Amino acid sequence: MIFEGLADRLQETFKKLRGHGKLTEDDVKSAMKEVRMALLEADVNFKVVKDFVKRVTERAIGQDVMEALTPAQVVIKIVNEELTELMGGSQSKINMSSQPPTIIMMAGLQGAGKTTSAGKLGLALKKQGKRPVLVAADIYRPAAVTQLQVIGKQLNIPVFSMEPGTDAVTIAKSSLNYAFTHANDVVIIDTAGRLHINEELMQELKDIKREVKPHEILLVVDAMTGQDAVNVAESFNKDLELTGLVLTKMDGDSRGGAALSVKAVTGCPIKFVGMGEKLEPLQPFHPDRMASRILGMGDVLSLIEKAQDAFDAKEAEALSKKLRKDEFTLDDFLSQMKQVRKLGSFEQIIGMIPGLGSQVKDALKDKDIDLNGKEMRRIEAIILSMTPKERANTKLINGSRRKRIAMGSGTRVQDVNKLLKQFEEMQKMMKRMKKMQGGKKGGFGGL
Ligand code: GDP
Repeated sequence: MIFEGLADRLQETFKKLRGHGKLTEDDVKSAMKEVRMALLEADVNFKVVKDFVKRVTERAIGQDVMEALTPAQVVIKIVNEELTELMGGSQSKINMSSQPPTIIMMAGLQGAGKTTSAGKLGLALKKQGKRPVLVAADIYRPAAVTQLQVIGKQLNIPVFSMEPGTDAVTIAKSSLNYAFTHANDVVIIDTAGRLHINEELMQELKDIKREVKPHEILLVVDAMTGQDAVNVAESFNKDLELTGLVLTKMDGDSRGGAALSVKAVTGCPIKFVGMGEKLEPLQPFHPDRMASRILGMGDVLSLIEKAQDAFDAKEAEALSKKLRKDEFTLDDFLSQMKQVRKLGSFEQIIGMIPGLGSQVKDALKDKDIDLNGKEMRRIEAIILSMTPKERANTKLINGSRRKRIAMGSGTRVQDVNKLLKQFEEMQKMMKRMKKMQGGKKGGFGGL
């Protein structure tokens, strides 16, 4: 889980601090020593850590804190505010041009996730009602154009490309004409990456910049490379004057050093984060929410947004009707489960709920609870191995069919029995709830 180590360390430190009634200067200083170690271990830039700790200490040793009724809370609040500030303060959005198309140039080293992020950004903008076009200007990596075309097709976003041999500047310029004639209001240019920064690459990017005058130059960096990502951002920023960063592979970054240092070192805000290989919309970066997560205060706002995104209002209404009429079937059960799965793994969801996080995860570890959706996949396989008639009426499923379904889904008969029993219980419960509601409208929408 993202920031796991740091979150655990900081929460531990603050727990100790809470144990004290009034705080002395020494209490604060020793807590700050631990904060410093925790940040360094999370691979945060040395200088950034030093400044951070200095700022927090100065504020925390101030009179107000020492005399507050709950001094530890005040210290946590200060750390929260300073962490938020460190990551850029408030959310930094895309600069949309008042005269379309808005031109977004994506840059980055090979393997950082640039092409994937171009697609994900296109999807995020499409969801906001924009009409993006993806531009294949990475002409060096052999499969890059095809890769972008495959992504475009999957996301139903047009991809502009030209014959092999055309130079990147010509492609970028020509894409603007394409956008005008096809009424695309956002142009996302996927430029070439290299294994390392070199003069030739920078020159090409500068040429594209000069010719198309992008409104946004987003550098894509791999969060898992920690301080390397920060160094890469620094050099690209010097040459290109970036407008923002996309931090990819945050799903695999348990330390968080790049996310915490890159704004302070480069002055460039993180605008988006990539959270997986799956082509889902690129997520905006919210410094305040990220800080809350690090401090174990959860991120309920993101959870609510994800839920709103995942649950289709029409489907919820249809479901609500079915429940009122007692027509809830295993198919509906499956579709509900799929919607819940869109929220992410159980582990990711827990991380967003305040006060849960690592302790709860530890507590659940020994129990028979699957944190990664394996159980959900098994249930899905079982339901899909039934005939449509059986899914609509589970009473049709006798002993021999249970055996066949178990075989078909690669599970055991006990698993099939367990699922059917759970489903029966759920139906009973729904009937009871319906009675309690006296057949009132609504009540079952969404979750
Ligand atoms: P490019 O060379 O910079 O264009 O990189 P690609 O877009 O081809 O991505 C390189 C690899 O990183 C691919 O296997 C992607 O699926 C993967 N990738 C991209 N973004 C993410 C992310 O946010 N999380 C994870 N786990 N993998 C990612």
